[in-house]
Amino acid sequence: MAHFRLQNVEDFYEIGEVLGSGHFGQVRELTEQSSGTLWAGKFLKLQRSASSRLGVERRSVEREVEILQALPHAHIMALHDVFDSRAEIVLVVELISGGELFDFIAEKENLMENEAIGFLKQILSGVAFMHSKQIAHFDLKPENIMLSDKSAELPEIKIIDFGLAQRFTPGEEYRSLCGTPQYIAPEVVNYEPLTVASDILSGMSPFQGDSDEETLRNIVDMKYEFEDQYFSATSDMAKDFIQKLLIKDQSERMTAEECLMHPWIKPLTHRQAASRSRSSINMKNFKKFNARRKWRMSYNMVWVCNRLCRLQLLCKQAQEDEELRSCESDQEDIAIKPASLIRRRLSSNS
Ligand code: ATP
Repeated sequence: MAHFRLQNVEDFYEIGEVLGSGHFGQVRELTEQSSGTLWAGKFLKLQRSASSRLGVERRSVEREVEILQALPHAHIMALHDVFDSRAEIVLVVELISGGELFDFIAEKENLMENEAIGFLKQILSGVAFMHSKQIAHFDLKPENIMLSDKSAELPEIKIIDFGLAQRFTPGEEYRSLCGTPQYIAPEVVNYEPLTVASDILSGMSPFQGDSDEETLRNIVDMKYEFEDQYFSATSDMAKDFIQKLLIKDQSERMTAEECLMHPWIKPLTHRQAASRSRSSINMKNFKKFNARRKWRMSYNMVWVCNRLCRLQLLCKQAQEDEELRSCESDQEDIAIKPASLIRRRLSSNS
């Protein structure tokens, strides 16, 4: 179990600009006073009581910390320190300054499959490592795949946000309704026992429907197609790779290790290598997908803030600047659509 320091983070770190925000608080830049090293601080507001509508359960933060500690890997965000005041826990983590992978890609005019595979390999090696420790992330999606430094020749991938991650205990079943509708696996929608294989079917969104309900139905039915409009320049090996991931039965789905051995990722012949270096990603479509995803994220954030500010006004609590940190928290409390049985995270296309 990690050592939670019962001291103030401010006594050891300068707190800088806001880098991002999530359900339960903000992520801010931190400068370590003793060394000048830059870090990121994830400030998590704790629930005031078991019935409280705002904040995160202490047990969940403890689990996130334990999991991060168990995952020292080049492509997984590293945990450096933990501070614990009664109201808030601050995770001091490695600063990841290159932004989201999808934003980086969307700025490009073209992207060959070879380059995309370079990123995919890094993601898969991080995922294979966590799965080898019997840990599943359960929220793999574009927002949680970041780059350490986008000016590097091959920028390094970092997987973030282990807030929903779980470590499997042998002999115990784990079920959950958590996730972001368009990125979850059918076994989550069906509330069936989950395994690390659920990570393999998350993070992509070929099932997008006009509503969350339709998206979830498409996932359960495994309804998707390779429309020519989008896939004409895609190699057959890439399509084969995707098909082997989009399999309803968890035990039939490729594992992260198997993905790394698929000929699209690791070509066995010259012909296979040549085919993927000739094929490209449809950038027009990708840019459209990313723009829509970003728009949706800002829309959701404004909606959540408005709802919470209204709630806070009602409770006469929203006076201090500090309170703004809770502004993005607890979205699941206010999701009211039927599909919100799935614990919604700030999502892109729903
Ligand atoms: P969510 O509501 O998406 O589950 P969360 O409360 O669990 O979020 P994170 O996803 O971990 O929080 O972080 C929120 C945002 O803060 C990220 O989307 C990212 O933009 C930024 N962020 C997180 N970790 C880092 C980091 N180590 N370095 C830089 N920015 C970060």
